Amino acid sequence: MFRITLKEGKDKAPRRRHPWVFSGAIERIEGEEGGNGWAEAVSADGSFIAYGWYDVKSHIPLRLMSWEKSDEMGEMFIRKLVHSSIRRRMEFFSLPDTTAFRLIHGEADFLPGVAADAYGTEVRIIISSRFADRFLSVIASEIDTLFHPSIIEAVTDRQFSSLEAIPERIVRYIGGKETTEGLDRMNARFIERGIWFEAVPGRGQKSGFYCDQRVNRSAIERYAAGKAVLDLFSYTGGFTLHALKAGALSVDAVDSSEAALRHLLYQVHLNEEKGSIPLFSREKVSTEQANAFDWIRNAPEGKYGLMILDPPKLARTKGTLESAMKAYKDLNRVAMTKAPDNGIIATFSCSGAMSREDFRMMLGWAASDAHCDVQILETLSAGPDHPIRLSFPESEYLKGFIIRVMR
Ligand code: SAH
Repeated sequence: MFRITLKEGKDKAPRRRHPWVFSGAIERIEGEEGGNGWAEAVSADGSFIAYGWYDVKSHIPLRLMSWEKSDEMGEMFIRKLVHSSIRRRMEFFSLPDTTAFRLIHGEADFLPGVAADAYGTEVRIIISSRFADRFLSVIASEIDTLFHPSIIEAVTDRQFSSLEAIPERIVRYIGGKETTEGLDRMNARFIERGIWFEAVPGRGQKSGFYCDQRVNRSAIERYAAGKAVLDLFSYTGGFTLHALKAGALSVDAVDSSEAALRHLLYQVHLNEEKGSIPLFSREKVSTEQANAFDWIRNAPEGKYGLMILDPPKLARTKGTLESAMKAYKDLNRVAMTKAPDNGIIATFSCSGAMSREDFRMMLGWAASDAHCDVQILETLSAGPDHPIRLSFPESEYLKGFIIRVMR
């Protein structure tokens, strides 16, 4: 086991159970030769702080996982973490109308760079650390033991493959064993609060579907009835479908991905067939492939009683926060100028680097520049299957507000 001594004064965050130790905080590394392994982090005076996984090639070389001196690191420990994480979701397995939810939420569940989502009978794992890549088969095997999914498909998060120097790969497991089967299987079909969706195997963004927005899609249902709705950055229509379910007058969906919009229309048909949205819903939906930041500038004024703004992560790191704040502000300002009096906007940011306070402040600037008054009606975040770990503020990545625009 490596013994890693942290620099004086650099042990505060790890002692408060923040799981990331960057190279600048490390004073000395003792241990066997080699680039990675289990490690014990100690402070300058040699006292124990935590155990973790050390990997010199990772952009976060030491990732802490246990603050208990008596814990034993190893594969059994990883299995225990996977097991506890899934046990914490027990109530999700018996929900009457939802079969898609997150099983493992990375550092918030003590598993650095490991996300796993259930989609009906399938599981998708998203790898975003060298640790996750290294122990993938152990993680998959433990998920299989507990949950017996029909297939587990693991994909590397593209953003992290260069950052962490890991190959972009897709690995499938059936019965806990790696397999070359399952490539040509059908889409995974699942329900989210009464609406049917399908995830395309091996493709799609993130793990194929954004189940972190589940509670927020329900929230917008309260404002959608009888409204012309704009679903900006619609992806495959998560919000669109819930707006239709709630009786929206029309939905205009805009996204830069043609494939996502095609899948959106397919899912509208699927739900019409299933009877989960009103008949003739298809006629209420129009899609447009466009750059949403440009598109909104030419959007009609006063048309949309409900607008949903769910852009991709604009601030990837603290370093890009300032320029991202400007982009968020511009988007929200323009949307506010397009809203009718008392128009509702559901606005989101999924940038971990941007705090909720930053987001709120940005909305204030946008309202001021749009010369309108704004009320916050609801404060939103990801659902309880994406818990926010207090000692890891970055886990509060998804923030949203439902606001009313008054002029
Ligand atoms: N609201 C969606 C998730 C949105 S994810 C849901 O509920 O499932 C962000 C989406 O923004 C992606 O679909 C991506 O294709 C799209 N996107 C990224 N940049 C864009 C741009 N400049 N203009 C329009 N869409 C964009």
